[in-house]
Amino acid sequence: MATARRNLNELSPEELRAELAPLKLPDYRVRQLEKWLARGASFEEMTDLPAELRKTLAETYGDGALRIAGKLVSAVDGTVKYLFDLGDGNLIESVLMKYKYGYSACVSTQAGCKMGCTFCASAKAGFGRDLTAGEIAGQIKAMERDRDVKVGHVVMMGVGEPLDNFDNVLAFMHIAHDPGGLNISYRKMSLSTCGLIPGIKRLMEEDLPITLSVSLHSPFQEERERMMPVARKYDLDKLLEICNSYSSGTGRRVTYEYAMISGVNDTDAHADELIRRLGGTLCHINLIPVNAVKGTGYARAQRERIDSFRARLERGGLAATVRRAMGRDIEAACGQLRRQALEESRDEVRRENR
Ligand code: SAH
Repeated sequence: MATARRNLNELSPEELRAELAPLKLPDYRVRQLEKWLARGASFEEMTDLPAELRKTLAETYGDGALRIAGKLVSAVDGTVKYLFDLGDGNLIESVLMKYKYGYSACVSTQAGCKMGCTFCASAKAGFGRDLTAGEIAGQIKAMERDRDVKVGHVVMMGVGEPLDNFDNVLAFMHIAHDPGGLNISYRKMSLSTCGLIPGIKRLMEEDLPITLSVSLHSPFQEERERMMPVARKYDLDKLLEICNSYSSGTGRRVTYEYAMISGVNDTDAHADELIRRLGGTLCHINLIPVNAVKGTGYARAQRERIDSFRARLERGGLAATVRRAMGRDIEAACGQLRRQALEESRDEVRRENR
């Protein structure tokens, strides 16, 4: 069995030098290589290194560069959605969005997801594996290189549950923050979780000034369990309790994400229960018009319904906004491109097997 090759872009400067010592490279070569690795380049792209050296490196090591397997550019707002190939058959998605304040990257933290939320495309496509810290950062680097831009904000809202891959996600945040690298401040990072309480506790201990987003989707325990199986294990009372200690401990408001699904969780009774449960806490509610995913049977709530739901929350004293849909024409909802690619390759296998 082939052993996994070390990715040179995941080594510290000291580790890289120790690893390459047998090659006896002059120091300027190592620095050239280091610069390319930091930008997420592949060995082929490192054109100022001798071809012979690139070949030697490629025989022994991985470059950790993410290959673009698919790309969709929105004609509406310039949002770009990427499908990346991790080189081992796993595919992930990332999205690059342009806002007035600059570029924001939505990154995946796992190839697939184990959480099984009923409205989500990622859950339907199954779980592959956790991403390494280098692969999470690599998504940002690959997008920056592809569009020649600098990413200033990152949201961990792509495929996967970040707190189910805690150590790698934490290492990623440190890499992304590195002033010599991606140089993204913690205040411009958001981590979104379906509500894994032990992970939220660990995150609190790290004391990083990032934004914590919690996917709520219903203020009623039983209904939330039906939508999000993880709610059976971590119930709403305990979840909201830990979120309150997070916001009081950090002084930063928690964002609750709430996907508006027509006739399911968009009634006045839901708004009133949100007010009852969240009133007086340091929080913000982000209403997301749900992206209809094939096979879920859920439809997006009407715009007027969403607006009156938001107004009701505000009257009840809660800060609430409606998320602007980005890249509507390219199905920028995370997980859909990957699911489509996986389904197509499965269809191909089926055709070949006939
Ligand atoms: N696992 C994490 C992060 C990934 S999902 C989490 O659950 O928060 C990012 C956000 O997209 C979550 O709020 C999730 O509930 C939401 N989401 C998933 N599928 C969606 C859909 N079809 N329409 C709208 N939002 C969706």
